[in-house]
Amino acid sequence: MLPAYTDITRRLGEPLWYDEHGVPRYDPFQPDLCGIYGDFVAFLEIACQACARRFRVSCGISTGWYMIAHEGKPPTLPVVEDSGSFGYGDPPRHDRDDGRCAGETMGCHLLRVREFWRRDGPSMRWCRDVEHEVNLWDPWDPAQAHGANL
Ligand SMILES: [Zn+2]
Repeated sequence: MLPAYTDITRRLGEPLWYDEHGVPRYDPFQPDLCGIYGDFVAFLEIACQACARRFRVSCGISTGWYMIAHEGKPPTLPVVEDSGSFGYGDPPRHDRDDGRCAGETMGCHLLRVREFWRRDGPSMRWCRDVEHEVNLWDPWDPAQAHGANL
């Protein structure tokens, strides 16, 4: 479960998005606002598994750190219906009207890679790579719901 940041949201309201630590962010997403060690940053749309509330979140990956944690295997990049190595885990902390949502400990559905960025060349500047901006499976979309158990 991610930390609650109600001290921030109570003062500033609903954020535009959350970073990879569940911290509410209020300026429009840009990769420079994410971790400094990332080689890739995906700006994702996710939904809580329990209440289906949607969030926009970032997920950054450092190739070196990823390979250390995954027996030397490099990260895989998103393609249609497959988010590759990019994910989010538990959704940002949120409440339902009747109390805390159990989904805060259950994980989330990845719905869409809204933006995908990679560092490029010796300058290491961020470059957008639309090839990896893809729709994933949305169990709440009637057009995609065939075969769903929801
Ligand atoms: Zn929820």
